[in-house]
Amino acid sequence: MKVDPHDVFKGKEEITCSYVPKFPAAAEREYLHLVNGYMRILKESLEEYIPKLRDILREDVRTDSKETEKERKRQRAENFARMSASMEELFRRIRRTMEQKMDLYDIARRMRAIANKTRLLTVKEWKKAIGRALGIDIFEDYYLGEFFRRELDAWITQNTDLIQSIPHDALGDMKRVIYEGYVAGRSVTDISRDIQKRYQVNRSKARLLARDQMGKLNAEITEAQQRDAGIRKYTWRTSKDSRVRKDHKRLEGRTFSWDDPPVVDTRTGRRGHPGQDYQCRCIAVAVLERDNLHLPV
Ligand SMILES: [Zn+2]
Repeated sequence: MKVDPHDVFKGKEEITCSYVPKFPAAAEREYLHLVNGYMRILKESLEEYIPKLRDILREDVRTDSKETEKERKRQRAENFARMSASMEELFRRIRRTMEQKMDLYDIARRMRAIANKTRLLTVKEWKKAIGRALGIDIFEDYYLGEFFRRELDAWITQNTDLIQSIPHDALGDMKRVIYEGYVAGRSVTDISRDIQKRYQVNRSKARLLARDQMGKLNAEITEAQQRDAGIRKYTWRTSKDSRVRKDHKRLEGRTFSWDDPPVVDTRTGRRGHPGQDYQCRCIAVAVLERDNLHLPV
């Protein structure tokens, strides 16, 4: 390192970066956009077959105004095998329709674009943090190394699989709701409403998953960046709002080693670094040690 220690460190062994890197929100928006696209595919595929679905559910029920839920239940128990065969066939068709639509999406390429954007944004923030702390400019393309590529590739593969499983899982969930409603003797209108509700639930779940995955990628890149620069310690920074979990609040402002993560869950004793926990928005702010820096200047 060619940093003049008298200027920056003022005789100290180490300093903590004053700049707290920002979360790659623009990349997260793209991921959410992708998730919404996939949920839309599910919705469209499902809507295409709703009339057929209503037919299947309805054909067994003799519509009699005096008919009670109990009577419907009895009839449906009798007709279950026939209904179930039609239903399975219908869901196979919905799945096929969905897959055809998903094939047009070029998901792996889009995932790669999101991962690359995250990397660029994270490097930019890292550059800012180092620039403010040490007054030096680091190379951005330095972080295109083999190590980074491997980590990004793993994330891309994992998330490509993950996002493709979302509509499939959601569809399975809806099928379950239909069967349960059918057996319980719920009316077709009620079952349709249940499907709508499940769709909303699955959509929110998918959005949370996207945010979580972005947080994990950001955390991974941050760790790789810092270790690469010879940084051994970081200061834990929470987002300091009401959503920060108690166990992370406890860690705010404290310094930890990359080789020895603190306990992030006092109940289980599980350990971790900032951003690794589900939906965690905490940040690892680098502690720069005067004699242990390898920065690409
Ligand atoms: Zn956190």
